[in-house]
Amino acid sequence: MNTDPCLVGFFPESLMEACQQEFRRETQERNLVVHLWFRSYFSWRWAALCLLGLAVGACVAHPTGSQRFEYFRIQMGTRVQIILYADSEELARQAATAAFERIQNLDEILTDYNPESELMRLCREASRRPVPVSGDLLSVLDRSLGVSRITDGAFDVTVGPLVALWREARRTKRLPERRLLAAARARVGYKNVLLDRETGSIKLRISGMKLDVGGIAKGYAADQALAVLKGHGILRALVAAGGDIAVSGAPPGKVGWTIAVQSPAVAPGEKMALILHDCGVSTSGDTEQFVEIRGARYSHIVDPKTGRGVRHSATVTVIAPDDTSADALATALSVLPPKQGLKVAESQPGVAALIVARNGDQLRSYVSRRMQSYMSRH
Ligand code: ADP
Ligand code: MG
Repeated sequence: MNTDPCLVGFFPESLMEACQQEFRRETQERNLVVHLWFRSYFSWRWAALCLLGLAVGACVAHPTGSQRFEYFRIQMGTRVQIILYADSEELARQAATAAFERIQNLDEILTDYNPESELMRLCREASRRPVPVSGDLLSVLDRSLGVSRITDGAFDVTVGPLVALWREARRTKRLPERRLLAAARARVGYKNVLLDRETGSIKLRISGMKLDVGGIAKGYAADQALAVLKGHGILRALVAAGGDIAVSGAPPGKVGWTIAVQSPAVAPGEKMALILHDCGVSTSGDTEQFVEIRGARYSHIVDPKTGRGVRHSATVTVIAPDDTSADALATALSVLPPKQGLKVAESQPGVAALIVARNGDQLRSYVSRRMQSYMSRH
């Protein structure tokens, strides 16, 4: 994947329909829609962007013989979709099958639903001694710790004990007991994960720690699946694991993949579309997984510092050079206060963020400069 993601445009839906007929086909109908809301900015800018989109689109030559293929499976507890362009059905099917197998393999390593997964075994054993782990597990944890460092611990793979309490709270509709929260917090902290790249091993400093890679695994899996497709010579593809999407080269004749975004607060007709290639885009949000207790709404994303389900964030969309980063950053920026989240996004090369935060019943959007410049540079 290129190190610089390319966002070609950011369009309101009404203009997009005039620009690219495939919008609905590739997004809404096929459930590729990432939900997010964006307030209407300056309409003349949209018009200019759209015209530019048409102009650039018209200049892109159609490579011959490239056919579109689409596949999906339920994996990692979500709908995984692969859209790719290939010259033959046989190649397309072989490549997609290999990509799905790669995801399946990662799920087996990383799931917390199976006590015998490599990740769960690591949690049990690594407080006693350093445990050598597979390259994938090492990479996921290494990338996680990297995101923890740049987000001041807002992203933290050691949140497992807290996540378990908030899952229970969603089930019982009762806040976790203070005593249990305190006990769980004592077992959380990314600095307690000691990763040794030389030996490829992990040691956990506290017993009872539980690693949870739910905030990064789907992005990593999407990136890995895309890499498998590349290995089969497929250079124009999209892999979507729920709201975590990795894209390579644009479809033939297009300047990028059209990815619609919408939010819980979306006014009718205010869906937006991102046109992307060679990057990752992920959305985290509390639209589906949250619990409301005594009038307060708690997300399934937990603030590792307070131990509480996040209350202020509605949705966060992050574009990054790869989807592992986009996924983890979208989770982290859901935890951080929006302005601090924007700072993090701005400090990272190739990262753009759109944060929709709640303030009571009100929603407010925060747009990183890079995202703004994509929106206004033409
Ligand atoms: P989703 O998986 O729902 O699309 P995310 O990518 O934001 O959304 O991941 C949320 C998951 O990440 C939670 O279900 C939990 O497993 C894990 N998680 C929760 N809080 C944090 C956190 N502060 N840091 C890292 N992972 C978290
Ligand atoms: Mg995430």
